[in-house]
Amino acid sequence: KEKVLEVKNLKKHFPVGRKTVLKAVDGINFHIFRGEIFGIVGESGCGKSTAGRTIIQLYEPTAGEIIFNGKKIQDQLKKKDLLKFRQEMQMIFQDPYASLNPRMNVREIITAGLTVHNIVPKNEHENYISELLEKVGLNTSHANRYPHEFSGGQRQRIGIARALSVNPKFIIADEPISALDVSIQAQVVNLMKELQVSRDLTFLFIAHDLSMVKHISDRIGVMYLGNMVEIATSEELYSNPLHPYTQALLSAIPLPNPKQERHRERIILKGDVPSPISPPSGCPFRTRCSKAMGICAEVKPEWKEIYNNHWVACHLYN
Ligand code: SF4
Ligand code: MG
Repeated sequence: KEKVLEVKNLKKHFPVGRKTVLKAVDGINFHIFRGEIFGIVGESGCGKSTAGRTIIQLYEPTAGEIIFNGKKIQDQLKKKDLLKFRQEMQMIFQDPYASLNPRMNVREIITAGLTVHNIVPKNEHENYISELLEKVGLNTSHANRYPHEFSGGQRQRIGIARALSVNPKFIIADEPISALDVSIQAQVVNLMKELQVSRDLTFLFIAHDLSMVKHISDRIGVMYLGNMVEIATSEELYSNPLHPYTQALLSAIPLPNPKQERHRERIILKGDVPSPISPPSGCPFRTRCSKAMGICAEVKPEWKEIYNNHWVACHLYN
């Protein structure tokens, strides 16, 4: 399988005051294969959105490498390739309202990208936009309307249409369904799943909860306090979670059919997530881990592939 994105030791630190830094993303490693949906989950503040925004260059990385289609993004940015990168990688935001210009109607919102990236000739815009709106479950008449005239689910469809309009190869979706009614969430997820196949798209799908990414993701990465703690295929992660944090997250998901699955006890995590300004020494999860040992306070666990394609950072597996 071909790696479309490789993230190597990526860090994004934000200065807070004069002497402190907030380590939002503190050295994560993963790759995404072409055509897959890769989910990232973690509680709010774990760095998942920052990771997405750094990958798409909304933020400049503090350290590390981002390799897209075999090229280092930082190198691309120095050249004309920047425009191509901006076309090939698109983002869908959690709050489509905040990311859509309220003074532009849908036609203007979509036309802006078509023009910048020279996607279709001007006389074909009208047809192109109509087809696109239908593709995402809206219709031609919606082109004249403004963002405030739509429901949350419809606005997210506009955000998806805008992203798709420039023929991207890779879409970062940052909690695209968290703000939507439960009844609408499945529709938007199904739309993305359908686009993955019909448009040969690769997705980085960011969510705060494992139940949201379970059905959509091919593989899932779990983040905690700026670190990636585990990555596996969806089936593997659900049937054989290795990291104590993943085990706790999974135990919080109600089982669809409790009688059929093995008994699973709810693991209640003690305490709160520590501040990313002063993260614990050693393992970032140790202050909340029921299995913590002496070494966990001293040595940061190595990021290791334990089985084929199953990665974890935990001293229990050394
Ligand atoms: Fe728990 Fe130690 Fe593993 Fe961290 S390294 S998750 S503290 S057992
Ligand atoms: Mg977020």
